[in-house]
Amino acid sequence: MALTQQSALDDEILDGLRAFLAAEVVARHERHADLLESPHRVHDATGRYTPEVEQLMREVRTASAEAGYYLMLAPESMGGAALGHEALFLAWETIFRECGAKYWLGWYAVAHWTKGPSPLLEHLSPAVRDRHLPAIVSGERTTCFAMSEPDAGSDAWMMRTRAVPIPGGWRLDGEKQWISNAAHADLAIVFAVTDVEAAAARRGGITAFAVPTDTPGFDVFSVTRMFGQAGGHEGIVQLAGVEVPDDHVLGEVGDGFRLALLGVSLGRLYNAAKGVGLARWALEKALAYVQERETFGKRVAEYQGITFPLAESAMEVHAARLVGLDCARKLDAGLPARMELAMAKAYATEAGARAVDRAMQAHGAMGFTNELALAEAWQALRSVLVADGSSEILRRTILKQLLDGEREL
Ligand SMILES: Cc1cc2nc3c(=O)[nH]c(=O)nc-3n(C[C@H](O)[C@H](O)[C@H](O)COP(=O)(O)OP(=O)(O)OC[C@H]3O[C@@H](n4cnc5c(N)ncnc54)[C@H](O)[C@@H]3O)c2cc1C
Repeated sequence: MALTQQSALDDEILDGLRAFLAAEVVARHERHADLLESPHRVHDATGRYTPEVEQLMREVRTASAEAGYYLMLAPESMGGAALGHEALFLAWETIFRECGAKYWLGWYAVAHWTKGPSPLLEHLSPAVRDRHLPAIVSGERTTCFAMSEPDAGSDAWMMRTRAVPIPGGWRLDGEKQWISNAAHADLAIVFAVTDVEAAAARRGGITAFAVPTDTPGFDVFSVTRMFGQAGGHEGIVQLAGVEVPDDHVLGEVGDGFRLALLGVSLGRLYNAAKGVGLARWALEKALAYVQERETFGKRVAEYQGITFPLAESAMEVHAARLVGLDCARKLDAGLPARMELAMAKAYATEAGARAVDRAMQAHGAMGFTNELALAEAWQALRSVLVADGSSEILRRTILKQLLDGEREL
């Protein structure tokens, strides 16, 4: 079932990506079903991924790097194909639609902006680049993005992690929370206050640092267990007297907040594509199921109480896809598209979570089984109504643009 047509632009690349996912992701899941379908073997007692699972993730990343997909969105300066924002949307939509939440190793097939080569890493100094980038680009090693703190989430300017100058470098102290991939990353991009007054005035004063995670004082002391999972992906990071040389500053001192927003923008488009892709995957399953399943002598497809919500979601997902593509094209044209990024991320993730919820209902009790993984898809989307700019913060951004007269409807 095709809810909408794919753009002709990237058909060949997307066909190749689909073939890669079938050969390297779905097949790997089937070979390792005993491991991957057992939550207590996916995570260890501390909530981290087990070494066996980490190895499978690494295999997907490195196979994808060799096949040319891992770096398809990464900058040319890192050997990437820099295909742009429309390609970003289409690639991630394809991954989530093909793999759903069942074949989740596919979520590692293209470098994600917080975990792999991204435009943020273009700001690494030549020395740090030479030391760390080759293993990140090959998919062997990964990164994390450490911005949020216990008292600084939506309002990131409130961060308390401090970096103070020392001879030849900086010393960092503080605590970061909700940091995806922190427990497995080799290099962390850490944001810290370097000028208290400027940060308090929300005019700079925050600097980004490249911190190798084996630096003394860098400790992921806990991985937060999330709803429905035996472990988690988000770590709490303690920075206790972490010392890094001057050349580990990313970009310019005091310019970290601007760099963070560059990354967050990519995250908003990524999450919009995730909403559309997972929704299409779930709706396709539901449409197939209601045509097979019979109750009271009729196919469930004949009950409009179940099928009208699916039609409702088909409308919403089609609209979300167009909003996401429009946003991506504006970014490709060099426009800031702040309002479109907020609209695309909020609308697509909310529509996606509703679509998955409706697909679960259409499946009856089957909708909650690990076998179908619909609940995992719902969880993955429900949590991004908070991550990367919550639904409320995105509405705030839209309104600010409209009320300030920067944009009109
Ligand atoms: C799955 C997941 C992965 C994450 N990964 C990372 C990561 O890799 N790196 C990282 O740095 N952070 C990460 N985060 C953290 C994320 O960025 C924060 O959770 C987010 O910024 C919200 O902050 P908070 O959770 O502290 O909520 P709060 O900021 O405390 O907000 C609480 C509630 O109040 C609402 N609210 C807050 N301010 C306003 C306002 N002005 N108007 C209206 N409503 C408001 C919020 O929308 C929310 O519903 C992740 C979070 C999740 C859930």
